This record gives sequence, C-alpha cells and structure tokens, in this order.
Amino acid sequence: MSILSILMKSEPDEPASGPQPDCPLCAATDEAVIWRGAFWRLIDVRQPEYPGYIRLVLNRHVTELSWLAKPEHDQLFKLLLAIDELMRKELRPQKINIASLGNQTPHMHWHIIPRWQDDPHFPQSIWSSPQRELIRPPDERQQAVARLFEKLPKICTKTVY
Ligand SMILES: [Zn+2]
Repeated sequence: MSILSILMKSEPDEPASGPQPDCPLCAATDEAVIWRGAFWRLIDVRQPEYPGYIRLVLNRHVTELSWLAKPEHDQLFKLLLAIDELMRKELRPQKINIASLGNQTPHMHWHIIPRWQDDPHFPQSIWSSPQRELIRPPDERQQAVARLFEKLPKICTKTVY
C-alpha cells in the first residue's frame, strides 16, 4: 500500500460504488422520501405496526461503514443524532432502536425505530418472534408521528448545511 493510498484511505478491496443492478436501494422507485440530501436520504418505512419507523439510506452503493467518504460519515453521525433527539422529543417512546445490518441488502442504510412496550416485539428486536398480538397504535401516537415527519426535513437540512 502506498503512502498516498493510506492518506486517501482507499482500500484495495473496496468494491465499485456505482449503482448495482440487483440492489433495491440503488434502484428504489416507490420510496416514501421524507428528505433527500447530497449523500443521505430519509425514508418513511410505512410499516403500520411501527409508526415513525424511518430509514436513513446512503445515496450511493457502499457496503461497510469504514468505506464511507469523510463527508458521508460526518453527516451520518450528525443526522442520526439530530433525528434521535427530535424523535425522542416528539414521540417520547420507551426506546429508540438504531441498527445497521445489511445482511440481505448490503447497501448502507440505518433503521431508526421508535419502540413502545405495547408494540408487537418489545423488548425484543422488531426482527425477532412477536411477543404479543398486534394492537392498533393509539391515535395520539399517529398524530405525534405526523408532527415528527413534518419537522424532519427542516432539521436534517439544518444539520448538514
Ligand atoms: Zn445499492
């Protein structure tokens, strides 16, 4: 590895980051986009049992955190922090789950999931076996989510620009 490649943080095994033909996040067409920036976009996952569940998706195809360019990872942490804070204030959930897995869709994306004690999987992850019957989330929760979604674009823009 040359000094230049160390300085540039380029990795010999980093895969091409152009759009990948079979990647659902490179070719997404029916996303409910809440906000779109130069590097990241925020998506409403539209999962009825999890109101407020959103996804922060990198605009280009990168699979691992350490392959993000500096402005991408700088913005990532700022955005996660700002979204977490706004979600906590607007929704007052029991917990906020933030996760990046990518085993099935390796294109870098982060799940941000407000959790309540009456949700179907609490206290397990939303990908585990259900713990109880699904109940319709209360109206106040839906209204708080609507307020959150209204405020998110402004907060995201303010955070990164
Ligand atoms: Zn992709």
